Amino acid sequence: MTLSFCPGMVRAIMLGLLTLALTGCGEPDDPPAAEAAPAVTEQTVAIPDTAQSDAAYYDELRARWLELERAAQAEPEHAPAAPFQQIVEEPQPIASAPAAAATPAIGIIIDDVGHSLIRGRRLIALPAPVALAILPHTQSAQRLASEAGAAGKTVMLHQPMESGAALPIGQGGLYAEMNRAELETTLQANLNSFIPIQGLNNHMGSRLTSNREAMDWVMQVLGARGLFFIDSRTSPDTQAAFAAEAQGVRHLSRDVFLDNERTAVAIDAAFQRALELARKQGTALVIGHPYPETLDYLERRLAGLEQVEGVLVVSVEELLARKYRR
Ligand SMILES: [Zn+2]
Repeated sequence: MTLSFCPGMVRAIMLGLLTLALTGCGEPDDPPAAEAAPAVTEQTVAIPDTAQSDAAYYDELRARWLELERAAQAEPEHAPAAPFQQIVEEPQPIASAPAAAATPAIGIIIDDVGHSLIRGRRLIALPAPVALAILPHTQSAQRLASEAGAAGKTVMLHQPMESGAALPIGQGGLYAEMNRAELETTLQANLNSFIPIQGLNNHMGSRLTSNREAMDWVMQVLGARGLFFIDSRTSPDTQAAFAAEAQGVRHLSRDVFLDNERTAVAIDAAFQRALELARKQGTALVIGHPYPETLDYLERRLAGLEQVEGVLVVSVEELLARKYRR
């Protein structure tokens, strides 16, 4: 028997090594890395766009990272006792501030928020209207939503949806096996689990977003509540935008993932891509994650961006306004 490695296996091995590096000692409950290989290979073959070809691989990295984040919350965070007033009193950008329509603009959403209060507060303190997409039923969901809302930042429900690679998606997940009543009950409970919520985007979801009927059910709930929808585009077969359009739900789709590669160099390259897209097409929508590397980068980069790059950072609502004003 000849020993050979397909790209999926190489990735799976790299993933295993990365997980070991992150945990220090590995996690006994982790599935063997090789089990992930077929799904990754299937996704890689199915997706023609190189920017998306690694979607399943990066989804898996995120799922592993979130498991570590969740586990870390067993130890309480020692946040300052009363930072709420302090944050409210700082001068804050207004989410709906009008922006000159001629100036190229990017919107930034940070996903997977809710496990860490400290990182969530770093996002709220960013000198730009960056949106927080908060996972339901996470330890700091309500506190961060309140503080972000008070600071004029956009708050979204980051709705877990079934992944084609069978990755863990966390509490409050929507699955293709659910009937309409089950899906609606779960979604409504998530939407009622913290306030404020202005819109929703999908966490994972490469399987569920490809299911038009399920997406129609989701969009009917959003339409009734007057919420917007952002398609994270974790699958090239996503039906979400079509369903949103059919239900009259205002929607946008992600253009660039900021931090698929968690290095300052790769994050900067992705950010530059977003700026170029915005200059070319007027707007671009960026999605990132509350990784330390991403927070460090945004804290350095966002102040004075318009002067340096000629591109504004605007709220998601402003991006939607520009789209629907046309
Ligand atoms: Zn997510």
